[in-house]
Amino acid sequence: MPVPELEPDSALLAVELSEVCGTDVHLRAGRLSGVPYPLIPGHVTVGRLAAIRGALRDVNGRPFAEGDRVTFLDVHRTCNACWYCLVAKATTRCPQRRIYGITYGAADGLAGGWADTVYLRPGTHVIRLDGVDAEAFMAGGCSLPTALHAMERADSRIGDTVLILGSGPVGLSSIILARMRGALDVLCIGAPAARLDAATQVGASAVLGIEDTSPAEREAWVRDHTAGRGADVTIEAAGAPEAVAHALRFTRDGGRVVIVGQYTDHGDVAFNPHHDLNRKHLDVRGCWGSDFSHFWNAARLMARADLAEPWRRLRLERFGLARANAALDLVADGRVIKALIDPALDA
Ligand SMILES: [Zn+2]
Ligand SMILES: [Zn+2]
Repeated sequence: MPVPELEPDSALLAVELSEVCGTDVHLRAGRLSGVPYPLIPGHVTVGRLAAIRGALRDVNGRPFAEGDRVTFLDVHRTCNACWYCLVAKATTRCPQRRIYGITYGAADGLAGGWADTVYLRPGTHVIRLDGVDAEAFMAGGCSLPTALHAMERADSRIGDTVLILGSGPVGLSSIILARMRGALDVLCIGAPAARLDAATQVGASAVLGIEDTSPAEREAWVRDHTAGRGADVTIEAAGAPEAVAHALRFTRDGGRVVIVGQYTDHGDVAFNPHHDLNRKHLDVRGCWGSDFSHFWNAARLMARADLAEPWRRLRLERFGLARANAALDLVADGRVIKALIDPALDA
């Protein structure tokens, strides 16, 4: 790929680490709509600014310099002019938005993180990582802003029992954030065993394997831990459509459910609207993508050694670009806690 001539107020990023996440597995399988193949994957990335043309500033107005370590919001071109942006204030549903590594294709140039270099186009929101533990930031990866958004939607309270369905990266980050928000008990149902161990290490008070239990046994387990009522708040970060029906059932009357695991279309699911929703007086919220505030707060969290500590407990595995398919296979099977692409490993 040619290195582009820099437009005014743009930059080149020398990639240090880029993540491999479930979205990339869906991408490889052709399961995301509106994606211009071929493309360079990799949407959450850290690196150093190798070249800057014009003025590149952070949200505090401070200019960036070449050599600064940064990350950038993978969402580009949120328009701040359409009905969704201006009236609904739901910017993650802006139809103009494009995403590095997902909806920018190879025809758009160096627009993905699984590369030596990313071209940061004018209007890209760059975030300084001075004093930020970049490895912990990448251990969170896109799951961290996603989970920050989900917990914001969940609006959990001090003293709550929060149930997390799924023990992948979004589930693990949600456990940590639920604790930060004051949940006294965080229950996690997921798989495989290594990920449930990780869930315990980052703060889950009890975990249950999905592979050797029936839905009725899982419901009984949740009720055992909640005086028979169900969780105050449930975060569905599992991905299987049945998990949505289970999230409704495992939550107490008047509780809240956030659906954040259904990033691709895995089909339909049946539930009973009388028993599982209306009579329960449930508050059910979807959660799509993340915005600049979630990325910004993710970086600020990782600048605090005490708060970043749980993410440092997550095992990272680095893969060179030549081993990207092996990394995707491991992520697809849940055999790795967090896989990262490190282009220097190919050198
Ligand atoms: Zn818009
Ligand atoms: Zn991702």
